[in-house]
Amino acid sequence: MKIAVLSRNPRLYSTRRLVEAGQQRGHEMLVIDTLRAYMNIASHKPQIHYRGQSLEGFDAVIPRIGASVTFYGCAVLRQFEMMGVFPLNESVAISRSRDKLRSLQLLSRKGIGLPVTGFAHSPDDIPDLIRMVSGAPLVIKVLEGTQGIGVVLCETEKAAESVIEAFMGLKQNIMVQEYIKEAGGADIRCFVVGNKVIAAMKRQAKPGEFRSNLHRGGTASLIKITPEERMTAIRAAKVMGLGVAGVDILRSNHGPLVMEVNSSPGLEGIETTTGQDVAAIIIQHIEEHARPNQTRTKGRG
Ligand code: ADP
Ligand code: MG
Repeated sequence: MKIAVLSRNPRLYSTRRLVEAGQQRGHEMLVIDTLRAYMNIASHKPQIHYRGQSLEGFDAVIPRIGASVTFYGCAVLRQFEMMGVFPLNESVAISRSRDKLRSLQLLSRKGIGLPVTGFAHSPDDIPDLIRMVSGAPLVIKVLEGTQGIGVVLCETEKAAESVIEAFMGLKQNIMVQEYIKEAGGADIRCFVVGNKVIAAMKRQAKPGEFRSNLHRGGTASLIKITPEERMTAIRAAKVMGLGVAGVDILRSNHGPLVMEVNSSPGLEGIETTTGQDVAAIIIQHIEEHARPNQTRTKGRG
C-alpha cells in the first residue's frame, strides 16, 4: 500500500516508528509536512498538492496533527477523505477530540463515567458553578490545553474563584472539574487500536505535582487494567469515532472515569514502557481496514 503520514517533523519518534513499521511490512511510506500540503477545493476532482506535485494513489493516511495546527491539519485530512483515501482517524473525530468540553458532552451522552464537570460563561455564576462540582479542591482546565499546560488545581474556593475570574477576564474558555484525589496523581493511558486496548501504562506525577503528564515530569510504568477499565476505554474511543486513541482514565473510588481521549497519542512512552510494537499494530490495523471510499463522514459535518 501507499501510505501518507501527515506530520510536521519526520524526526519525531512517533512519525519515525510509523514509517519504519510501514516499510518493514512492505508499504510505501511518505511523510507529508501538514502545513506544506495545499489544496484545490473548487475542482470536481479534489486534489492535494505538495512541493509542486499532485498527490495521487494513496491508500491510507495517518494523521499526526499537533494541537497547534488542528484547524489546517483537519482541512488537509478532510481533503484526503474527499479523495477517498482511508484515514486512520477521521477529521471529524479529531476536531471533536480537540475540544475537551465537546468530548465530555459526547461521552456523557453515552453514559461513560466522567469526573463531575461544570462550564459557565458569566463571572456571576462562579459561586454556583463551584458548588456544582462539590467545592474545593477542584481542577480548572483551559478547553484546548495539552500536555498539562492550562490545568490548575485549586485547594480552596477563594483560590478557585480568583483563578476562574482571571481566565474569564482573559476570554479563555475553561471548565471546572471535581478533583479525583484518590487517584493519587496517577492516571492510566489506554492505547486503543480498533476495538482493542493493545497497551496500557500507568503515569505517576512527580512528587508535589498532581498532573501525571510525561511532559510535566511524570513517570510511566506497566499496569494491568481491569476488565471494566478496558471496556470503558474501548467504548470511549468508539463514541468519539476514533480508530486509534489514547484514552486517559482516573481510578476513582466509584470506578474508572475518563479524563480525556487523545486522537494523536504518542508512541514513545507506551512502546518503551510496555515493549509492545504499537507502530506495527497500527499498520496492521490499516492493512485490515483500508478500503477506498470508506470514510464514514467523507469530511462532512
Ligand atoms: P492535558 O490535555 O493538558 O493533558 P488533562 O485533562 O489530561 O489535560 O489533565 C492533565 C493531568 O492532570 C492528568 O493527566 C491528570 O494527572 C491530572 N488531572 C486532570 N484532571 C484531574 C481531575 N479531575 N482529578 C485529578 N487529577 C486530574
Ligand atoms: Mg492529558
